[in-house]
Amino acid sequence: MIRARWIVPLHGPPVEGGWLRISRGRIVDLGAGPPPGHRDDASTIDAAGAIVIPGLVNAHTHLEFSDVDPPLDTAGGLPTWIQRVVALRRGRASGPAAEAQVAATIRRGLDESAAQGVTAIGEISTGIPVGGYPAGGPRVRVFREALGLSATSAMTAGAEAIRDVAHLLAAGVSAGISPHAPYSVAAPLATALIAAARSRSVPLAMHVAECEAEAELVRSGTGPFRDLFERLGVWPSGGPALHSAAEWISRLARGPRGVVVHGTHLDCDPDALARLARHRDRLCVGVCPRTTRALSGRLPPIGLFRGAGVRVAIGTDSRASTPDLSVLAECRTLVAAGVVSPEESLRMATVDAAWALGFERTCGILAPGRPADLAVLMPTVAHTDAYEAILDPATRIIATLRAGRVIAGSFACMSNTSDRP
Ligand SMILES: [Zn+2]
Repeated sequence: MIRARWIVPLHGPPVEGGWLRISRGRIVDLGAGPPPGHRDDASTIDAAGAIVIPGLVNAHTHLEFSDVDPPLDTAGGLPTWIQRVVALRRGRASGPAAEAQVAATIRRGLDESAAQGVTAIGEISTGIPVGGYPAGGPRVRVFREALGLSATSAMTAGAEAIRDVAHLLAAGVSAGISPHAPYSVAAPLATALIAAARSRSVPLAMHVAECEAEAELVRSGTGPFRDLFERLGVWPSGGPALHSAAEWISRLARGPRGVVVHGTHLDCDPDALARLARHRDRLCVGVCPRTTRALSGRLPPIGLFRGAGVRVAIGTDSRASTPDLSVLAECRTLVAAGVVSPEESLRMATVDAAWALGFERTCGILAPGRPADLAVLMPTVAHTDAYEAILDPATRIIATLRAGRVIAGSFACMSNTSDRP
């Protein structure tokens, strides 16, 4: 039993003076006033001033960069930043020690996420880490990423990605497939990846419509991406066959669920936006506001997406472009810019992000029967509005629970407490 100043279920209004009962990892009931038939005992957590919210969902990140601090320089925009990412990757050692290092970095990102109140993550993975994805932290949807421009590299990348997805599914991991981006995935690889997502019924996630340079490369095979790929020696002679953002959106809609990540440039692409709106029953947008602002100098066109009836989920992207893995910091960025209300931003970081990952029946709201995936927050200054209190940067996250088990923080500072509800 957790008692708190506010229980914020997200599928209904905040419950003031509320309580929430957990049994066997699931929420049994919640309400206001005295909990019926309950006497406080050692299992009661009296978090009098606290706020209980659904565990936050990070719709898009790349945990392999969780040790990058500070983020890579974003000056020069996306193609220049991609070059820095490639240099970072190429600078890594190879061999067992380096692979163990990547696994430790992913674990570090999971730990940081849990400490930030996150209980589910959409992870873009370039390979299964040594020992697999650790259990016991946040839930993870692992989107295996693939890219390739030449016929040979595309074929190898596709085969490896599809093999990894089979391994993940066999290990009981929630898997997905991520074609990297329209500028980096040649048409034959696109066909193979979409077919695999359909046949295995796994969701898709893809960076789409990030900048004008992407559109230029797809349209005419020229521009900063062409220059970059020539320098890297990956531009095939004769040029690759590439799909436009609009064509990609139609293809992503052939899978069971898809996240169009970023979509920053969709305000210049009415055809792509119309296709996205047409497929809003299976596609949503995943925005990473701080990263988009750093790389593009503006925020994603969220009003446009919402006006088209498209769900918008929030992600952090990786520490290669953002200083931490705080979903609440992404919410604050949108609210401070006047783009959405505090409540709307939190819905994007819970309900809609859970939908983006295909986890909508598991997490994203507080409701009887659901796993007790939640975060307990403690404001440090007085508030009259629960959503504003949640987003106050001075509010502390004191504990994060997945299925009723504490995965970060503790209730040690609470009265009448035990560590495990
Ligand atoms: Zn990304």
